[in-house]
Amino acid sequence: MTDQILIAEDEPRIAAFLEKGLRASGFTTAVAKDGHEALIMAQSGDFDLMILDIGLPGKDGWIVLEELRGEGEQLPIIILSARDEVRDKVAGLEGGADDYVTKPFRFEELLARVRVQLRDRRLPKRQEEIVLRSGDIVLDLLTRQIRVGDRLLKLSAREFTLAETFLRHRGQVLSREQLLSQVWGYDYDPGSNVVDVCVGYLRKKLGQDYIETVRGMGYKLRS
Ligand code: CA
Repeated sequence: MTDQILIAEDEPRIAAFLEKGLRASGFTTAVAKDGHEALIMAQSGDFDLMILDIGLPGKDGWIVLEELRGEGEQLPIIILSARDEVRDKVAGLEGGADDYVTKPFRFEELLARVRVQLRDRRLPKRQEEIVLRSGDIVLDLLTRQIRVGDRLLKLSAREFTLAETFLRHRGQVLSREQLLSQVWGYDYDPGSNVVDVCVGYLRKKLGQDYIETVRGMGYKLRS
């Protein structure tokens, strides 16, 4: 069954960014735009995890968290906050949050945390993919190593995330916008050519034949 993620976020741009990324990663999503809505939806039992913005209208994220945990609600909650001060983080985790992500964040970072929470909750049910393969490319998410045949590649963190994204969507065409939001995050300037540059580096390291340019559409990993 598909995991349902509740996104409590009042800023439409960030909510849309999260929905798009999570749906592309196989989750279903719903958005609560204020604290009252967040509280009601979180109590509905329809969701497997909540991403909770602190700066919400109505009731702020701290109050939502406090009320939910006060009622014994066990829903995994990842706090999203613009405040990166340590005391907020401590307060969030002591208040019963399961994890904490500071804005601005990369989508892949949040996604990794979502997966950890869901995996921890039901280990027997859900076997997380640790090794991704496509042809002779083998990417190990635990050791953060990638090999092509016997060749161990040296990739930057960004190139690794890009390679991971391609392997999770092997055979699919990924647009520059998709890659930008999955690998770089919503706060990145969509006008820049970082995607093309990074794909160029990755392509060189993998070998020329693996990543195909689909004219006018984007890139795909040959499957
Ligand atoms: Ca907000």
